Amino acid sequence: MKIQNYINGEWKEPSTGQFAPVINPATGETIAEVAMSGPNDIDEAVQAAKEAQRQWALVPAPKRAEVLYRVGMLLKERKEQLARLLTMEMGKVIEEARGEVQEGIDMAFYMAGEGRRLFGDTTPSELKDKFAMSVRVPVGVVGIITPWNFPIAIATWKSFPAIVAGNAVVWKPAPETPIMAQELARIFEEAGLPPGVFHVVHGDGPTVGNALVEHPDVKVISFTGSNEVGRMIAEKCGRLLKKVSLEMGGKNAVIVMDDADLTLAVDGIIWSAFGTSGQRCTACSRVIVHEWVKQELERRLLEAVKTLKIGNGLDETVKVGPVIHEEALQKIDRYVRIGVEEGAKLLIGGHRLREGDYARGFYYAPTIFTDVTPNMRIAREEIFGPVVSIMSVRSLDEAIAVNNSVDYGLSSAIFTRDVNRVFRAMRDLDTGIVYVNAGTTGAEIHLPFGGTKGTGNGHRDSGVAALDVFTEWRSIYVDFSGKLQRAQIDTDD
Ligand code: NAD
Repeated sequence: MKIQNYINGEWKEPSTGQFAPVINPATGETIAEVAMSGPNDIDEAVQAAKEAQRQWALVPAPKRAEVLYRVGMLLKERKEQLARLLTMEMGKVIEEARGEVQEGIDMAFYMAGEGRRLFGDTTPSELKDKFAMSVRVPVGVVGIITPWNFPIAIATWKSFPAIVAGNAVVWKPAPETPIMAQELARIFEEAGLPPGVFHVVHGDGPTVGNALVEHPDVKVISFTGSNEVGRMIAEKCGRLLKKVSLEMGGKNAVIVMDDADLTLAVDGIIWSAFGTSGQRCTACSRVIVHEWVKQELERRLLEAVKTLKIGNGLDETVKVGPVIHEEALQKIDRYVRIGVEEGAKLLIGGHRLREGDYARGFYYAPTIFTDVTPNMRIAREEIFGPVVSIMSVRSLDEAIAVNNSVDYGLSSAIFTRDVNRVFRAMRDLDTGIVYVNAGTTGAEIHLPFGGTKGTGNGHRDSGVAALDVFTEWRSIYVDFSGKLQRAQIDTDD
């Protein structure tokens, strides 16, 4: 399968004529080839988007929303087929792939509903016979840059609000996962989105991603990915005075207090640490446990990890799939060596899996470190693999301080039965998302999604907050007095 760009409603070869292999991480097999475009392809897409956006913005929002309803229906019809493709290109287990497609379906219906809301404000004027209101207006052409770990969900979090608000979108997906991008473009086409409103230009970050960031007709960049790249994009957008929304890394913790239901805590930790092989931005990579229950929790976690079946995610009985590629495996392994050198104790795992069927894919054993201290690199830096570090604390205050001591602030969780502890945690955990008696993953699409500190720059995906970056506020004053009325001056009349 050759994956081309989708520009102005047509499938097009990249101007470079170049393609790169797409590898199934479970088997090491090449399953497709993806266009490796150049800046010219971005320019062509942006010009077409600019043209199409003017018309699209004039379509009444409820009509724009009807396209999203149809997109939602098509995603629903094809859920199983899409989930299988997603597992093949990204590696996550099929159950999670179905969940990811479901997120897209939910987002389609939710954002379609926005077509009949897109609320602004009306407010009294300080002057007689004058009406005041503010409305959301689209920004124009939106550039979207996404990572490989949620190849379809993240694109829906960004493109659906952008499109319902009347923008046109140029999307650069991660080169590792272009198949989902092709499928989403096909669905938009079938759903009747006018040509030019949605484009996909494939390629690498420094060439194609950068061309999108720097293009003068792209008014907003919505990025999800690593901190390193996000920071670079933010610097460029700063110079260009371009709006930019960043969703970046995490170092998420589960706190387990001495009164916690340990069975539930173990389920939550295993699901959020080893689901998607630890490659979620919300993955649990730290466990902060009260010292009184540390030993028991470790014993139960070890038991649970031993039962996890690792393998090709298409097998329904597999719980942990491969990681994305060889480079990721090497990075994870480097961090494990660092942890050992720093003096952390390896409880289980800590190595690649190379035997039998594992030899061709990219598999890493679920890994647990204990006796980790908050200053160790494995407790501070994002590893993005199936590695979790256990740290012990003596109180809730200390647990919250350890949780908040890292540079990231995406997600945190607490297991406790004490309502006072719950409310203190809800108030004091410095993360964009807080879970009580659940792991660090499980966001629902109608709530804002994003993080504090190094995780983001204050914007949010999902929820109604997602509309903020894709719209400008326009304040409108209508004077029906028939005379000149000066604000702040003629107010006594
Ligand atoms: P990445 O930063 O390497 O790449 C993300 C995207 O940016 C890709 O499409 C890539 O091609 C592009 N890119 C790379 N260099 C670029 C440049 N110079 N200019 C423009 N674009 C460029 O990240 P990744 O490895 O694909 O994904 C993993 C990271 O994503 C992790 O850090 C993870 O935490 C983060 N993530 C965050 C969230 C969130 O919502 N906070 C969600 C998922 C993933």
